[in-house]
Parts: sequence; structure tokens; C-alpha cells
Amino acid sequence: GQRVRVPLGKGNRLEVGYCVALGMEAPEGVELSKIKEVMEALDNPPLIDGKMLELTGWMAGYYACAWGQALDAVVPAGVKRQAGTRVGTYLVVPEEVRERLEVVLKELPVKQAEALAVLARAGEPLTVSDLCRMAKCASGPIAGLREKGHIRAVKRRSRRRGVEVGTTEVGTAPALTREQQGVLDRLTPALEGDQFATFLIHGVTGSGKTEVYLSAIEKVVARGREAIVLVPEISLTPQTIRRFKRRFSKVAVLHSHLSDAERHRHWQSIASGEVEVVVGARSAVFAPARRLGLIVIDEEHESTFKQETTPRYHARDVAVMRGKLEGVPVLLGSATPALESWHNAEIGRYTLLGMKDRVGGRPMPEVSLIDLKNEKAPLAGLSETLRQAMMKALDEGGQVMLLLNRRGFHTFVICPNPACGKVLKCDACDVALTYHKGRRLLICHACDAERQRPEVCPSCGAKGLHYGGIGTERLEREVVLAFPGRVVKRMDSDTMRTPGSHEAVLSAFKAGEVDILLGTQMIAKGLDFPNVTLVGVVNADTALHMPDFRAAERTFQLVAQVAGRTGRGDKPGRVLVQTCCPEVAAIACAVHHDYEGFVAGELPERERVGMPPYGRVVRMIARGVDEGVVREYMERLAGALRAAATKGVRVVGPAPAPVLKIRNLYRYHLRLVAPGPKPLRELLRTVPRGVVLPGGVELGIDVDPVSML
Ligand code: ADP
Ligand code: ZN
Repeated sequence: GQRVRVPLGKGNRLEVGYCVALGMEAPEGVELSKIKEVMEALDNPPLIDGKMLELTGWMAGYYACAWGQALDAVVPAGVKRQAGTRVGTYLVVPEEVRERLEVVLKELPVKQAEALAVLARAGEPLTVSDLCRMAKCASGPIAGLREKGHIRAVKRRSRRRGVEVGTTEVGTAPALTREQQGVLDRLTPALEGDQFATFLIHGVTGSGKTEVYLSAIEKVVARGREAIVLVPEISLTPQTIRRFKRRFSKVAVLHSHLSDAERHRHWQSIASGEVEVVVGARSAVFAPARRLGLIVIDEEHESTFKQETTPRYHARDVAVMRGKLEGVPVLLGSATPALESWHNAEIGRYTLLGMKDRVGGRPMPEVSLIDLKNEKAPLAGLSETLRQAMMKALDEGGQVMLLLNRRGFHTFVICPNPACGKVLKCDACDVALTYHKGRRLLICHACDAERQRPEVCPSCGAKGLHYGGIGTERLEREVVLAFPGRVVKRMDSDTMRTPGSHEAVLSAFKAGEVDILLGTQMIAKGLDFPNVTLVGVVNADTALHMPDFRAAERTFQLVAQVAGRTGRGDKPGRVLVQTCCPEVAAIACAVHHDYEGFVAGELPERERVGMPPYGRVVRMIARGVDEGVVREYMERLAGALRAAATKGVRVVGPAPAPVLKIRNLYRYHLRLVAPGPKPLRELLRTVPRGVVLPGGVELGIDVDPVSML
């Protein structure tokens, strides 16, 4: 688990590697005298303990990546570089810029604005490489900002700031409800006995799952153990964090806005046992807790637990494996469990614990459908029915939330000439451009490229381009016009660019200063506002027609989750769902809060086509600048896989990926489908390396893929 510097090859070039085992004998066929010395051990104590070595070894095998790649995912870059412990050049936002930040941000090109916003939000000076990584940009925008004087470079020794210890507010636990106590009782033997077991809490929204997690963690902390809690990044809100900090005095929060230096300090604090509870997004599953007692995964169905770059691990599955290796319980919770988890409970691999009632006997909200086919203005954002219901809810003193999972103003621009009729696409991507009215630009949501609006169709020169489709920006304008005098706020990644804006809007909403909150899924996750009496789903069909075997499941989850945001206080809540497909099971079941009904219809369908949870899928995707070369490579790869495949393994494809081109790279994929993981692992271990990868082509292997685009 220590990194070592070793000489490699004829030239004895020095490389850093991980020491994964010790042995006294030379490997077979190698003379002892030929073995070279380790030049230097870089870490003392080791960065990785024995359990983590085992875990990363498993990841390498299961996710078909190199062991070193798995190790690199576990140890943050800042820890490797010991960030924050040396004198260096750091970037800061000068006070005079900070004072007019909002104005400055509006004037800047997107990349520069993003970089500046990230630096301002960081709360401490950052190195150039930190900022590039955190703002996902190259050094160009940063140089631009320095030239304009918006950021300044200073030499300094980074300040040490450990994990905050000691709570400001102390909260006491409420008496658990009978249902909560029942669940806790079922968990207790595992919590007190250092046993591995995986529990799946299927609890309706508002049933008090978080309270159960807190009580379970209390039990392990009382025994001097530590807990890791994973939540989707989007749910790492101040509200969530406060719930943990009120109950535990030593909480480390790991989110993606941490600088390398902060991450390093958190890592050290956790590794030295100063932390009781680690709350974080996906990669917190690797937190170096040395006395682990429990792993909790809230909203376990969320697709963000899957990492979309190598190693493409799923944090839920890694957590279960870590629990097994360390002999500790793993607790998964959701109102809408992933079908994989549900199936694991059905076959007895997980223990299912149900929570059927909301705390305080509150009823589930009443959900009704609005069939857009019957509405007078089906192309508007708000149907007449929804508008009336909003009026009523607001008049009665309630608040309203509106969900629309598309940002921008118009979601497409199309040529009016019937002989052409082309949709305007990004130059670099096979993706329709979105019109953002506030910035008067067409923007590609795949690569962030921006361009001016053309006067005429770029293909045929026709005049009068047609703008269509509704994004959150257009919905906001419609709502403002329809509800004069009401305070409306929009929450999406366009409006939430300034530091702290997310929290500011949420607390204004909580305080009743905002009447209508509309936005993308940012507003749908885990929020708890007692005064919300109406939730409107503007378009329930956005995910339904995706070329993805999980389209129905995603649609069900989205509607059921957003419906759960209402009726959480003393007033009953109502949900209105606009759809063109009211008869689709995913939507009809969500209306009746009928998870089991949905599952009962969906699982046999999955079984029929051999898809998860019944079959295992591996997606292989190749990318390259030359479409012909990519296609030809994939055909050869598919041929080799078919030749080597054992009975029961299907090779589907190759075919162009649903999004054929992103950032000028053409994408082709194929899928391997089998009843279990073993034959697939065998194929992945042997075949790809035998098929020569042409220059400029990259192959990605995605085991248990979540994204099919
Ligand atoms: P879930 O995570 O299942 O959606 P929460 O844990 O957020 O549910 O609980 C819903 C609401 O009920 C929260 O406001 C929470 O503070 C409250 N609550 C949970 N358990 C109790 C309890 N035992 N007594 C009183 N209030 C509770
Ligand atoms: Zn693009």
C-alpha cells in the first residue's frame, strides 16, 4: 500500500508504482541478480491498507481495468501530491472583484465565468492545476482571467485546516416511530456484531429513512467505529449536511468542490481516526476509515453512483464488496430502489426492510395526470389545468414547485424549408443546439460550444428559422407572465453558477420568500419543504423515449421522487403530472405510489430480453476521429468476441452509438449480454488485447453500464 519509486527498463527510468505484495523469491524465470532495488518508498504510513488492496484488486478484475487505475481512483490526486503542505503559487480572487462578482460573471465567456465562480466558491487559494480540474477547463481561460485582473497569483504556504470538530447546534434524536424502531431492531445485531450483511430499506418518501440512518450510525459510533454515508452529489445540500452535523461532532464532508489541499487534509483526518462520520458523493466509498463500522447509501437507485470514466465502478456495488471484505453491514435506502437491488432482495442476497408510512401519519400526496392530448394549449409549458391548480395553491398560502428536466429557452431550432427541414446541430457533436435567450446564444449541451444565431439555415439558406421546444428558461418566462406579483425562482445549472446561489435560493424558498420554484432535477432530490402543497411535473415523458432499457424505470423514479417533495408538512400535498402517455405503466404506477406494481410489470419484461437484473451487460464503446476506422475496428472486435464467446453469451452490434459524435469523435458501441458475470469477465480478459487498436481510436469498457447513449 505504499508508493515506491523504482527503476524500469534498460535506461532505468524512474517510475512510481504501488507496492501490492512482498516476497523473498524472484518470480519464475528471472534471476535474482537481475532484480532491481526499490529507490525510495514515498509514503509512510502506507496510503492503502490491506483491505483496500483487496478491494482495488477486485475492482480491476470486475471492471476490466488495470489494478493501477483502480488504485488511482481510490487515492485522490491531492493526497499523492501531498497538496497543501508546500509553498507554491496560488490563485486568489481580489476583493474588488469579489464585491462585484455577479456583474463580472455575466460579462465573461462561459469557461472563464465558470473558472472564476469555482475559485470564488473554493474559499481558499487554489493552484492552477486545482482550478483546471475543479472548473473542468484548460489553462487558457485562467490565463485570460489573469490578464483581465479578475484573478491574481500569490506565493504562499497553504493554510492547514483540518476537519471541523465540534458542533454549533446540538440536535437530539426524535423518538423513533414504531416503524423506524422496527427497522432499527432488525439492523441492530449486524451493527453490534461486525457482521457483513446488506439491507435494503424500501421506504416511501417522508417515511423517515434518514432518521434510521442516523440512529444506526449512532450505534456504531458509540462502539468507537466510523461510518461512511454516500449521497448523490446533488443532495449534498447544506440542509442534508446540517442533519448529520447536529447529531455527530466529527463529520467530514467530501464533495466535488474540494481543492486538492482540502481533500488531502480530510483524507489525513479520516485516516488518523479523527472523524466519526464521512458524508460524501460517489468516491467517498473509498474514504480511508480504518475502523469502519457501517456504510450507508441513500437514494441507492441514483445513476450518479456510477462513475463514467475508467474505472467505471458503481459505488453501490463497491460498497457492498467493501462491506464484505471488512465484515461490516451495508445499508441501502430508497423510495424507488433500482431493480437490481430489488431483485437482490428477492433472491435473499439483501435483506428487505419496508417502511410503508410517512412520519406523523401524513398521507401520501394525491397525484393526478394531465393528458396533454386533451389540453387546449398542449405546446405551452403549463396546461390550463396546471395553471388553475397553481393559482389555487398559491391563494391558499402554499408554495409550488415545477420540474422540467431541460435547460435553456428553446430546445431545438429547425429549418422551415420542407425540402430541408434540418435541425441545427453542433459542429463537433451529433446533438441539437439549445437556444439560451438570456445569453442570446446557441449552446451544445454535450460539449458546451457556443455560437451566434444564424440568420438563415446553414444548410439551405432558407430564412425564418423556427424555434421550438420548452426549456426551464422559457418556462420561467411563461410562469412570470402568468403569475404577476408572485416571486419566481429558477434553479438549473445556468442560474446556479455564482457561489452560494444554490443555498441562497433554497433558504429563500424555505423562508417563504419565493412562491414558485422551478428547475431541473436539482429541485427533485431529497429536499424537504413543509409548505409545498403543489408539485407540477411539466413533462413526464422526457426520459421515456430514450433508447435505453431503463427508460421506464427512470421515468417511474423521476415522477415518484418529485411527487415525494410535497405534503411533507401539516398541509396535504398535491401533484400534477403532464404527459402524453398516461397509459404507460411507469407513469400510471407512479401516480398510485405503486412501486411494487411497477416492478411486477417491469421485471418479467427484463427477464424476457435477458437484461439486468436477469442478465449481465458489458458495453464496449470505441471513439475516434475517423468514422470508417472506428467502425472497422469495432467489426473486427465483435468478430473476435463472437469467435471466443461461450454458449449463453450474446454479442450485440456493433452499431453507431445513439449520440454518434461528441467533440468530433465518432462513437460506435457493442454490447455483451450473458446470464452471469463470469463468462463476460473471461472474454474481457482475453479478447480485446488480441485485436489491434488503430492509432487515434480509444476503447472504453463499461461493465454494468448505466448510460447507454
Ligand atoms: P425520508 O428520508 O424517508 O424521505 P426523512 O428522514 O427526511 O424521510 O423524514 C421526513 C420528515 O420527518 C423529516 O422532516 C424528519 O425530520 C421527520 N421525522 C423523521 N423521523 C421522525 C420522528 N421519529 N419523529 C418526528 N419527526 C420525524
Ligand atoms: Zn457539441
